[in-house]
Amino acid sequence: MSMDKEYNIDELLIKSTLLQKDRLKNVDKRLILLCIKVNEYLNSNTVYKIKITEGMRTKEQQEYLVKTGKSKTLNSKHLIGKAFDICILKNNQITWNFDDYKAVSIHFKRIAKELNISIFWGGDWKSFMDGPHYQIEE
Ligand SMILES: [Zn+2]
Repeated sequence: MSMDKEYNIDELLIKSTLLQKDRLKNVDKRLILLCIKVNEYLNSNTVYKIKITEGMRTKEQQEYLVKTGKSKTLNSKHLIGKAFDICILKNNQITWNFDDYKAVSIHFKRIAKELNISIFWGGDWKSFMDGPHYQIEE
């Protein structure tokens, strides 16, 4: 994909209203573009906003999450910049309701498809549904 030719992602990110966008530092540029586009769409068309809660993670952070039961794997895509987590605001209120994460995931999937980016939503994991999580599939 020659996305850098079509999009100046660094510039788009500077202009973007995406909340806590600095947390996308060193994350795959395709995922950054996706977040920017989904944020734009949600802000103009829905009651939702998204906030980036985590992008890159260190090995130590990952080990801690597994120990505390918040993650099931030491091979997380967060370690290689191929994943991010969001928090959703509905009418400017933080929500952890899975239905809201599902509603937003539909827009992530649709816009990813339009951008020709292959993603996986953590809410589609059968054993450990992770509504805030998105990762790129290679
Ligand atoms: Zn995650």
